[in-house]
Amino acid sequence: MMKSVYIKTYGCQMNVHESEKMYAAFAADGVGHAEKPDDADIIVLNTCCVREGAETRVIGNLGLVKKLKERRHDLIVAVCGCMTQQPDVAEKLHKRCPFVNIITGTYKLGKLPEMTRRIENGEKYICDLEKTETTERGINKAERTDKTGAFVNIMYGCDNYCTYCIVPYVKGKERSRNSDDIETEVRMLIGCGYKEITLLGQNVNSYRDGNTDFVRLLDRLSSVDGDYWIKFLTSHPKDLSDDVIRLISERPTLAKYIHLPLQSGSDRILSLMNRKYDLSSYMRKIDFARSLMPDIGLSSDIIVGFPTETEEDYLLTENAVERVQYNNLFTFIYSRRSGTPAASMPGQVDENTKKERISRLIDVQAKTAAAKAAACVGRTYRVLCDGTENGKSKGKTSEDRVIIFDGGTPGEFTNVKVLSAKNSKLYGKAVN
Ligand code: SAH
Ligand code: SF4
Repeated sequence: MMKSVYIKTYGCQMNVHESEKMYAAFAADGVGHAEKPDDADIIVLNTCCVREGAETRVIGNLGLVKKLKERRHDLIVAVCGCMTQQPDVAEKLHKRCPFVNIITGTYKLGKLPEMTRRIENGEKYICDLEKTETTERGINKAERTDKTGAFVNIMYGCDNYCTYCIVPYVKGKERSRNSDDIETEVRMLIGCGYKEITLLGQNVNSYRDGNTDFVRLLDRLSSVDGDYWIKFLTSHPKDLSDDVIRLISERPTLAKYIHLPLQSGSDRILSLMNRKYDLSSYMRKIDFARSLMPDIGLSSDIIVGFPTETEEDYLLTENAVERVQYNNLFTFIYSRRSGTPAASMPGQVDENTKKERISRLIDVQAKTAAAKAAACVGRTYRVLCDGTENGKSKGKTSEDRVIIFDGGTPGEFTNVKVLSAKNSKLYGKAVN
């Protein structure tokens, strides 16, 4: 009987796509996709360590996997990704969970089918944390479960070393994929009917392959014939150029949406974070984008409770968030990541203060989001229908606003009139 693998993904969209690529690598090896862990011969945990929460969940879930393994001794268990790329964490995990057969990091995901076969052939334990900073050539094969939107890597790694962040240590140096390969992959996906292409990289604005920088890449990709839109994650405010903003405003195939993580509204904290921009240069970019696209969708990541953050620093963040008027905000409590400079900075903020600040910030954003949603009532948007919710269609606008509506066909664009708004959510109906 055909063997099957279940992959549990933690963390960001980049990890979701890594798992899609792993499913494809297993499929090429004759291993199918199990719908749930109980049905699987192989269980893979694709981990994240950017914040503490994801790590805690991995440990919790390993407890459940252990129970499965007690019932089925031939079950193969692998843990991979950012968390286990850290040698001390990998070692601790092996001691604590000796039933895990394979531990690898972020570099060898494509080799998991081969490692799995070695375990089937009698090896008891494999730990491979070797770093091979190569960028593959050719089309990335991925088993995409979503049939409307597709992720495409354009680069890997990060060289920015924000002082709170573990990513550069676990994902290695920044490296860009070949631009012809990316274009071929995007053409293929559009040809297959995908309507939303999301380009992925830790700092997409520093993409470079020969003469092709990010704006040139976007220009090439958004010139492909077809009915689709392109989004990208993540832009670093220090590198987002006016040329990119201008191109977004000119091209119908580029979604009118930018995720631009501010992290903090205090210049002192931004400098301690090594972000290399200040609030006024950030605001200039926002103002420029809005001058060309008044309705552009903006979202951001904010960290509260970075070491030494005072009430005044926090209030500067709150003010900045109110001033920008984001459609969507991802708020995080600063999480001490061992090995990063911020982890050993003096002035760590106590947990209660961090929790109190994040809940105030969430309240501020909720008010903004509700006001912005209310202002959409009566307008008609072009919406990409990408799912259902409570028997109704669910979709997104070019500005990344979510709308629940009557009518519409999954995987297709539809015009939707917004009839009401509740909190940040929009409700409407398809119109012609
Ligand atoms: N490369 C992207 C995203 C990296 S991780 C960028 O620079 O924007 C996604 C988000 O997680 C970050 O934007 C940041 O807000 C948050 N984050 C990263 N490290 C963190 C830490 N140690 N504690 C809390 N939040 C963190
Ligand atoms: Fe982390 Fe900064 Fe790189 Fe983003 S840009 S991945 S926050 S180091």
